[in-house]
Amino acid sequence: MRLRNIPGSREVIAENKWCVQEPEATKGRWQELFGNTHPIHIEIGMGKGRFLMELARQNPKINYVGIEKYSSVLLRALQKMEEAPLDNLRFIRMDAETITEVFDRDEVSRIYLNFSDPWPKDRHAKRRLTSKEFFARYDRILARDGQVEFKTDNAALFDFSLEQAELAGWRVTACTRDLHRDETMNQGNIMTEYEERFSALGNPICKLIAVR
Ligand code: SAM
Repeated sequence: MRLRNIPGSREVIAENKWCVQEPEATKGRWQELFGNTHPIHIEIGMGKGRFLMELARQNPKINYVGIEKYSSVLLRALQKMEEAPLDNLRFIRMDAETITEVFDRDEVSRIYLNFSDPWPKDRHAKRRLTSKEFFARYDRILARDGQVEFKTDNAALFDFSLEQAELAGWRVTACTRDLHRDETMNQGNIMTEYEERFSALGNPICKLIAVR
């Protein structure tokens, strides 16, 4: 998702109280930031943040951190937070390539990846959020019993992700190529903005859950 650059969005984000300004300084201290010992779940590439906001509303005893690369996209999430603030949700504007500088070993209990950019060219495969390089990063921040949950409508990206999870030494414990027709996996499913858009076009949604 790449909205047109919104002038001033960087400045708004730099002053916003829901946005963690120096996330590297919070490494190992995220529970302190939230003021409790609840588990921390993150979404990488959260877009406008609707999925995470709904999760945070439903689960007050989990702390959520949404990560988004582009200010213009993150700005929409911040505007929604101003209207309906949530104590258990914070945002970071960053490229997830440096995620291990922001979260300590075992600090995260769950990672959500929803409709991640496909980066279709082979030479860009390492940029895909489900590449083995990214799984290696997740290995460093995710608690031993933690999990990665990934949804997409892109069958080629889904195949790639299954292959990369295995190559990186992860185990896929649940997998569907038609989430909305899978009674078990669809239970409690929260639709993301992209999920709603693509399923309205008739695209089946794929989902996997990976653990080590
Ligand atoms: N997750 C949302 C959804 O399902 O509606 C948005 C999906 S959109 C296709 C992918 C989002 O991931 C974009 O907003 C993009 O800017 C963000 N993104 C892609 N690569 C990223 C990275 N390396 N670090 C942080 N955000 C990233």
